[in-house]
Amino acid sequence: MNVVVRHAGVLVTCAGDWRPRAGAAAHDLGIVTDGAVVMERGRIVWVGRDTDVPAGLPDSPEVDAARRLVTPGLVDCHTHALFAGSRAGEFAMRVCGSTYEEIMAQGGGISASARMLREAPDADILEQTAGRLWRMLRFGTTTCEIKSGYGLSTEQEVRSLRLIQQLRSRVPIRVVPTFLGAHAIPPEWRYDREGFVRQVTEEMIPQVAREELARFCDVFCEHGAFSVEESRRILETARAHGMDLKIHADELASSGGTRLGAELGVCSADHLLCATRGDLEALRDSGAIAVMLPGTCLGLAKTRYAPGRLMAEIGLPVAVASDLNPGNCYCENLPLMVTLACLYGGLSLEQALVGVTINAAHALRLGDEVGSLEPGKRGDLVIWECDDYRDIAYHFGVQLASIVIAGGVVAAP
Ligand SMILES: [Zn+2]
Repeated sequence: MNVVVRHAGVLVTCAGDWRPRAGAAAHDLGIVTDGAVVMERGRIVWVGRDTDVPAGLPDSPEVDAARRLVTPGLVDCHTHALFAGSRAGEFAMRVCGSTYEEIMAQGGGISASARMLREAPDADILEQTAGRLWRMLRFGTTTCEIKSGYGLSTEQEVRSLRLIQQLRSRVPIRVVPTFLGAHAIPPEWRYDREGFVRQVTEEMIPQVAREELARFCDVFCEHGAFSVEESRRILETARAHGMDLKIHADELASSGGTRLGAELGVCSADHLLCATRGDLEALRDSGAIAVMLPGTCLGLAKTRYAPGRLMAEIGLPVAVASDLNPGNCYCENLPLMVTLACLYGGLSLEQALVGVTINAAHALRLGDEVGSLEPGKRGDLVIWECDDYRDIAYHFGVQLASIVIAGGVVAAP
C-alpha cells in the first residue's frame, strides 16, 4: 500500500551523501519547500515538490501536512530505557544536597536498578519500558537504541536483552539492542574485579553473541567503573565475537576512553565532556561518531557540557541522544536534547538536527536505512506543529511533534 504525505511547507530531508555529516555537510538540511513524500510498503519511494507528485498512484491514502514542518523520524542512539521501578528518592536526595557517595551508601545507584530489575516480573518491565517508548515516539523518535546494563549478572543481562527484543512487537519504534554488561562493578564483585571482567568476557559475551541478542557491545570506561585495560579486553572480546563497538568515554574525567575508542575503531564514543582536542582529533581520524548527551548534564545540574562546537570545528561528525536512564536523566524528549546541544554544547540548530537524524542513524550503523527522507529508506517521518525547523530547538520542552509515521504507518497520535 502507498501512503503519500502532501503539502509539507518545509520538508527537511537531510538527503545527501549516505555518510556521517561533518563540516559544511552538517549544516545542510536538504530542505524542499512545499514538499511531498511517497511511501510504498513501508519504504520511501519518492521525495520532491508537491506539484511534482507522480500521477496515478494506486490505492494511496494521503496525509495532509497542511503546510507544516516535516522531518525524518528522529533517531535516539543512546538510551538505557529498559529498567524497573523508580529512583525518584535519589533525585530528591540529590536536590537536598546529598553526594553520590551518600546515595550509594544508602543502596542507591546502578545497583538499586539492578535489584529492582531482578525482582520485577518480565511483564512489569515490558509494560514500564513500553510506556517510555510510546512517550519517545510521541516526541518524534522512530528508532532507538536500548542498552542492557542493569543486570550485572549473566542471567539478568541475557534476560534484559531478550526483553529488549520483545519490545519490538509492542511499540512501532525500531529498536537496536546494545550489550552493556560492563556498566558497573556489582557490589558482590567489589573485591574481585578480575572475576567480574572474566564473567563478562568468558560468559556474557559468548552467550549474547551465540543468541544474537545485541548488535553492539558498550562499556563504561571511567574511573570508578572500568579501566582502559579492562575496557579494551571487553571490547576486543566482543569484536572477536562479531559485535560492533561503542564506549562511554571521558564523561567525569579525562581517563583515556576516547583514545581507546579511536584505537579500537568504535562506531561511536559517547559523553566526551572531558575529552581533549587531541582525543577528539584521534576519534575523527578513526571514523567514529561523537555522541553528545546533554540531558545527563542537565540532570546532574552540571555547568560543563561536551564541547560540541570544538567537535564540529575539527570536522568530527556529531550525534545527539537522550541517555534516557533512571539515575540522572529520566527524559524521553529528544527534541529537548536538541535545544540543550545548541545552548550548552555550541552546536548550530542545523548541526543539532543532523545530530538526531542522519548522524544518529550512522551511530547505529543504520545510515543506509533511516535518518533521512530519501528513496529506499524506511518510511519514518514526523509532521510538526510548526512551520519552521528552528522551532524544534526554540520552542522547547513541549509536545511539538504532531503526527509520527513509522514504517509508512501513522504510529502517533
Ligand atoms: Zn549511557
